Amino acid sequence: MSSAPVIVVTGPSGAGKGTLIAELLRRMPELEHAVSATTRERRPGEVDGREYWFFNPEEFERRLQAGDFLEYRVYVSGKRYGTLHSELERIKKAERICVLELETVGAMAVKRCIPGTVTIFISASVAELERRLKKRATETNTEIGERLRLAHEQLEQADEFDHLVVNDDLNRAATELERVVRRELALAARIKP
Ligand code: 5GP
Repeated sequence: MSSAPVIVVTGPSGAGKGTLIAELLRRMPELEHAVSATTRERRPGEVDGREYWFFNPEEFERRLQAGDFLEYRVYVSGKRYGTLHSELERIKKAERICVLELETVGAMAVKRCIPGTVTIFISASVAELERRLKKRATETNTEIGERLRLAHEQLEQADEFDHLVVNDDLNRAATELERVVRRELALAARIKP
């Protein structure tokens, strides 16, 4: 089984984590996204089992009680998001490297649970986050407000993570993210017993 570290990409809503991960996976096919479960509504274009496993609240609760989550969080509008043990196991068994996209508290929880986890914080200015969330137009104004309020708190936590990548320009940020991941994987391979 693979002993490569788990890569956690975190940061506020609208920072472009999803887009950067998609680009990272395109550049490094040995990586695989661990699909989280959520109770939020599916956005146009999202596919069950690709962006998320979309659970209804009862299913999420049942899986939680069954111990199926490594961690979970309630994010905006009371919606739940959680990391499934089964996703991490599936990716490890396939000898691939696991990439998680999590908000900041979940990222820290995974770092505590899985030794060697590498956390990368994706940042952008508040004005940029607001512009992206409004452009995406998939949330109500109340939800956008809630996400921006959370973003202020999350930006203050940026230095608690192993690496910081500022998403000012997608191509530049993707290249920096790739460099960080490659360096961490090389380092982990060297210190492997
Ligand atoms: P969105 O609704 O925009 O897809 O996600 C909201 C936030 O939840 C994002 O910051 C995303 O990274 C985070 N998130 C997605 N899956 C999980 C998860 O399994 N656990 C935690 N803690 N956060 C998650």
